Amino acid sequence: MTFSAVIVAAGSGTRAGPGQAKQWRPVAGKAVLRWSVEAFLAADAADIVIVTTEDGEKALTEVLAGLSGWRAARGGATRALSVQSGLAALAHRPENEPVLIHDAARPFLSGATIQGVLRALESADAALPALPVADTLKRAKPGADLLTMSREHLWRAQTPQAAQRKTLIDAHARWSGGEPTDDVQVVEAAGGRVAIAPGDPLLMKLTYPEDFAMAERLAGAARITRVGQGFDAHRWGPGEEVWLCGVAIKHDETLIGHSDADAGLHALTDAILGAIGEGDIGDHFPPTDPKWKGAASDQFLKHAAELVAAKGGAIINVDVTLICERPKIKPHRQAMRERLAEILGLPVDRVSVKATTTEKMGFTGRGEGLAASAVVAVETPA
Ligand code: MG
Repeated sequence: MTFSAVIVAAGSGTRAGPGQAKQWRPVAGKAVLRWSVEAFLAADAADIVIVTTEDGEKALTEVLAGLSGWRAARGGATRALSVQSGLAALAHRPENEPVLIHDAARPFLSGATIQGVLRALESADAALPALPVADTLKRAKPGADLLTMSREHLWRAQTPQAAQRKTLIDAHARWSGGEPTDDVQVVEAAGGRVAIAPGDPLLMKLTYPEDFAMAERLAGAARITRVGQGFDAHRWGPGEEVWLCGVAIKHDETLIGHSDADAGLHALTDAILGAIGEGDIGDHFPPTDPKWKGAASDQFLKHAAELVAAKGGAIINVDVTLICERPKIKPHRQAMRERLAEILGLPVDRVSVKATTTEKMGFTGRGEGLAASAVVAVETPA
């Protein structure tokens, strides 16, 4: 079943504290509004209307950069008028198509919630996600004794709330009360049947300043951990020092390569690129390009770390193993950890460098070359 969405983002959100209205503030590096737009796009919404102010319309292109399939409509003086403006902007859609009306201040909208609301709507005039009230309710009226209330049959209403577009337009036209507190209320008042779909505790409405701290923590639930691994080897040749994990070590040989041949940095760079599906080091720094002749490999690692950041991701930890008979790595391990931590902007305890031999077997055992392997964990938006 196709559906459209209206996201109401016209409020000033003064309860959330001074400064920017809450729908424009970032949560985990992404504007609150963008979370919902991405959720509706992922659920294949046929059209998404964002109802906002004149200033908001200007902010949209920046906040929703790279996303298509949405349009803006101008908000009204009240939430109900803003919703009606959003519905009017969907005039090109079938009038019996479901419209999901969502508060921009609820960023953690899941596909499961959207599908649940659409399913509930199949047997009702309107539908909303809601959670049963779990806390005991107390009424404290000034001048009266505290009273414990029954929570039986009580629900916490969330959004998106859905009905066919013509149902919503008719119900708003017939509504004669004050400002309705949500969208199914106008359908209820018009005699429509409203169904409840499963709500989601993550679908909290960001209202107060402290809600943003909680949202930052909840955003972790909307992120995934990725793992990448890398391997590299270089041949020993004549020289006086060798670069390993960004540290120069005096040695009676050096590693031969197009760049500085730092196999530790190369393996780690490949591991990071692997974790984010960005190819390998040769794609980004072709050995055929004279620009990289003798290049310091820390810039390769830095570039990979910047690609992670550009995806809204973060490196969790890295672990490098150097495989050689000589030189002895142990005296240099701490310096290597500190250098890698510095390049990656990580605490040292999230950076590991280990060393092993191959018991004189194979190319590393015979002293023909040195090998390095690396593993990295990265967290990114889901
Ligand atoms: Mg290499």
